[in-house]
Amino acid sequence: MSQIYDRVALIGLGLIASSIFWASKRNDNSLHITGFSRSEKTRNIARNIGLCDEVADSLEDAVKDADLVILCVPVGAMEQVMLKIAPFLKAGATISDVGSVKRAVINAIEPHLPTDVKFVPAHPLAGTEHSGPESGFASLFDNRWCLLTDHKSADKTAKNKVKNFWKGLGANVEFMDADHHDLVLAVTSHAPHLIAYTMVGVADDLGKVTDSEVIKYSAAGFRDFTRIAASDPIMWRDVFLSNKEATIEILGRFTEELFDLQRAIRTGNGEKLLDYFTHTRSVRREIIEAGQDTDAPNFGRNFDSELD
Ligand code: NAP
Repeated sequence: MSQIYDRVALIGLGLIASSIFWASKRNDNSLHITGFSRSEKTRNIARNIGLCDEVADSLEDAVKDADLVILCVPVGAMEQVMLKIAPFLKAGATISDVGSVKRAVINAIEPHLPTDVKFVPAHPLAGTEHSGPESGFASLFDNRWCLLTDHKSADKTAKNKVKNFWKGLGANVEFMDADHHDLVLAVTSHAPHLIAYTMVGVADDLGKVTDSEVIKYSAAGFRDFTRIAASDPIMWRDVFLSNKEATIEILGRFTEELFDLQRAIRTGNGEKLLDYFTHTRSVRREIIEAGQDTDAPNFGRNFDSELD
């Protein structure tokens, strides 16, 4: 990746930043990556595990020589970080981010963008329920989508460079309008997370009255909900607060469908249920055919003894 950028700065050293680092080092060791995280604890962990070629102790040191600066902090912290780094950005540098919501991040960064700095917002559609500097791994972005958003400050060269950077990390890249991105992600990620959080909350309440039977006998479906509901609380608080309208729109539709299925169960309308479930099964098949998940039972996880 040396031909794309000479120096990259990662601000925030959690799951996504550490995965960017390990993925970039997999192919090419010549790109120099500097990292910064607000807490000394995270910076020390990063140094101990060799995360980043250099871990800076200030935002200024982290960004001043960087050709590309990627903000890898929660969506709600983007503006505050941008305000602090803006005076130190190199002329001609590109700012990007990995935020899960795009319109709110653009609104947070745009007003503080120096005139000689380009901005190419990005969102890799890849993650796990783990967080922190030790949670990243090199293959996180392999064959996953990274959605880039056009920004008026960015010329063709800046956009192509960010696109090629993400391709080098293993991702498939596409450009998408920011509002459309937020609506699509509300359907595919944000609303499902809220539903998982709610389901685990309901089960936990029940667990209390049934002496933890809900946890003890938890079936695979519920365990998948608990995995999603273990995702980082700060990240997800920020996602919902900054993608309010799209999430509420999708949750409204979800509630209508849920009532429809509830009615089908109450009235014994098996035909309705069969049609619905047959259709949803075909959606799963399409996702597998598109190469976005595995067809292996239980998502290819190997814990046979736990299967129910
Ligand atoms: P993470 O593992 O929790 O790491 C967050 C990083 O941000 C840490 O280095 C933390 O610093 C720093 N940070 C937290 N609050 C901050 C604040 N108020 N000001 C400055 N720095 C702060 O997070 P992540 O999963 O990598 O997520 C980072 C970004 O990627 C988020 O915008 C998220 O929406 C997006 N994203 C996440 C996923 C996912 O599945 N996790 C997927 C795609 C995109 P300290 O450790 O020093 O406190």
